[in-house]
Amino acid sequence: MKQQTFAFTRSENLKEKPQASTLQFGKVFTDHMFTMDYTAEAGWHDPQIVPYAPLELSPAAMCFHYGQTVFEGLKAYVTKEGKVLLFRPDKNFERMNRSNDRLCIPRLDEELALEALRQLISVEKEWIPTAEGTSLYIRPFIISTEPFLGVAASISYKFIIILSPVGAYYKEGLNPVSIAVENDYVRAVKGGTGDAKTGGNYAASLKAQEVAAESGYSQVLWLDGVEKKYVEEVGSMNVFFKIDGEIVTPQLNGSILQGVTRDSVLHLLKHWGYPVTERRVTIAEVVQAQKTGKLEEIFGTGTAAVISPVGKLFYEGETYEINNGVTGEVAKRVYDTIVGIQKGEADDTFGWTV
Ligand code: PMP
Repeated sequence: MKQQTFAFTRSENLKEKPQASTLQFGKVFTDHMFTMDYTAEAGWHDPQIVPYAPLELSPAAMCFHYGQTVFEGLKAYVTKEGKVLLFRPDKNFERMNRSNDRLCIPRLDEELALEALRQLISVEKEWIPTAEGTSLYIRPFIISTEPFLGVAASISYKFIIILSPVGAYYKEGLNPVSIAVENDYVRAVKGGTGDAKTGGNYAASLKAQEVAAESGYSQVLWLDGVEKKYVEEVGSMNVFFKIDGEIVTPQLNGSILQGVTRDSVLHLLKHWGYPVTERRVTIAEVVQAQKTGKLEEIFGTGTAAVISPVGKLFYEGETYEINNGVTGEVAKRVYDTIVGIQKGEADDTFGWTV
């Protein structure tokens, strides 16, 4: 670990911290942020912690035009003993560099980024909410800043980390969601940017999400972009199925984001001895399993909700009730275990917390 101390400018206008009961997702930001610049001549330079404030950018800055951006998302928790825990943050910076490679953005020093995050969080410790289910959401991101309208990779960038206290995702225990299989729009295609965490993927997903919401579904089940035959992800989560005793998740194929939660769930399930497979899963197989009573569970995995059980699935005019609309036993077990580890209350068998 680099023992580097970053320049620090303390904010002179500290904000009032929100009441835990009023916290939502991503609406309130802490007093400080971490920033670092990149130029072709100097590389990544000038790392510092500064007051949270608007940025000044040229309207021609490339991030506004061609979407050369990447981001990450993870959370910090305080334990009952007052210790601050991060869950596998190295995985997020590793993934950020994979996204950087795909988007032609210069790689970051992952250790430096993690050290920056530690120091920023230690400045903002008081902002981490402690009420049940609350946490501090961490958003590292990179934008291209060169003022230039040509379609090319920018020669300058900004890496920023901002922090946002967030409320409990589930206020009354794990709550199954209704999802609709998306047959028209696609999120990503093989060879595209689906396995990178870049803004354009999320812009591309909004329309389907809007249409699903109008029909009362909270998430979209994404199919592959070519044949619309294979299941890929659910909303902005990875997806797992329990079919006839086997737990399956779509194998990584270039258009699926490699979720940190997905990886953690795979580790846990294997450790517990469940038969678990990463393979292609067709929507036809899922529906057939449901019709023959073999579909035991569907759940999404991601940082925001950790686990999101699916209670209803809409596909081609039919609505199927999954596991009688209740949370399955595998979903519950991985949820309790991961949340327990994140909060320092369960055995951290794999050494995931920092
Ligand atoms: N897929 C997509 C498209 C996502 O945006 C996310 C959230 N980062 C995930 C899956 C889940 O990833 P993670 O478990 O790392 O949050």
